[in-house]
Amino acid sequence: MSVSTAALDPSVCAPLPVLGHDVTVPLVTGGEVTYAALDYAASAPALQRVWDDVAAYAPYYGSVHRGAGYLSQLSTDLFENSRRTVAEFLGCRADDQVVFTRSTTDSLNLLAAAIPAGCQVFVYETEHHASLLPWRDARVTYLNAPRTPGQAVEALERALADRDPHGPALVCVTGASNVTGELWPVKELAAAAHAHGARIVLDAAQLAPHHPVDIAELDVDWVAFSGHKLYAPFGSGVLAGRADWLQAAEPYLAGGGASRKVARRADGGVDVDWHTTAARHEAGSPNVIGVYSIASACKALTEAGFDTLVAREQELVRRVREGLAEVPEVQVLSLFGDDAPRVGVISFVVRGWNSSHFAAALSAEYGIGVRDGLFCAHPLVRTLLGSDPQDPGECGAPEAEPGERSLNAIRVSFGAGT
Ligand code: PLP
Repeated sequence: MSVSTAALDPSVCAPLPVLGHDVTVPLVTGGEVTYAALDYAASAPALQRVWDDVAAYAPYYGSVHRGAGYLSQLSTDLFENSRRTVAEFLGCRADDQVVFTRSTTDSLNLLAAAIPAGCQVFVYETEHHASLLPWRDARVTYLNAPRTPGQAVEALERALADRDPHGPALVCVTGASNVTGELWPVKELAAAAHAHGARIVLDAAQLAPHHPVDIAELDVDWVAFSGHKLYAPFGSGVLAGRADWLQAAEPYLAGGGASRKVARRADGGVDVDWHTTAARHEAGSPNVIGVYSIASACKALTEAGFDTLVAREQELVRRVREGLAEVPEVQVLSLFGDDAPRVGVISFVVRGWNSSHFAAALSAEYGIGVRDGLFCAHPLVRTLLGSDPQDPGECGAPEAEPGERSLNAIRVSFGAGT
């Protein structure tokens, strides 16, 4: 089997400039090559524009909401303007709140801590662990992997129809799979959730970097995403949506910034009056640079135009899939089938190869950086590999050669900078 390292021809439009596009790496075979970063789904390279914006601001930063000094005021303006930029990017409703977090994982854990008592949670077993696991203290219904978007909607409708109709309920679903790249029928799932009196949170970690996400148009209650997958650096994320559950809940972290007034009580205790804005869940000195980076990335993507970005990415998806289809040993993993709409995230196994060895060889011999593993979505990858999703042991790829069992998969992912 041969692997082509020919550059993808950027015939649709130029990629957005990102950091690290010209990094060279040594090859085990000798010499060096320009690194091909194809692991955007894990962390996308930061846009040059984001880096430039941060560099221009860095000499002026100060702590936010904390002082009368010029730099503190400037940083507070920048921080709050970033909140407005993110709200616009997500098409938020007038009364939605944008809470800055550390990541998608953090955002979903925040929401899990804020759901009302007795809330039933509905989640597909196919979710990334960040969406699958935070609800452990709730009554959770895990839905089996659907094989079509229509089945996903039907399964949810059935499960919701069986639920206790009086209590609160929440559906958590990904917009684009971090394993197959496939798009989920978010609008239909939101309609089903609402028809049964449930709410819905969209895990947009993989959707937001590739597609416009309009919270009002999709009619979802919350959206979560991470800066480091949206071409900003690590350390910041977003939970945006309905204020009521968030403001009725205890603060996610207790501390300064979340509290409006704190006073000693006569009985020796302490009374706290918590904020009822997003600040309620943002205790401590926030990651101002991370937040500003997200806003800068949102602006850059909006200015480039998602129509153009999507057209370019779809061309790359087509080329990668066509290239993989030419290799008989390759099996591309898919839940919804070959024709399902998808973003630039493609996982596969290679018959006769251990996926980890294959990925290591791509890096060492060709300078191509991909991901191997179960991608923090163990039940989904097990289903796709034909293993038992309930088996906590190893996975086996179908038709792998004896002794060369593929225990996991290989993932290629790309985006606006590719
Ligand atoms: N959701 C999906 C679909 C993801 O792909 C990921 C990360 O890969 C996450 C959530 C978690 O994101 P983070 O690690 O930034 O919290």
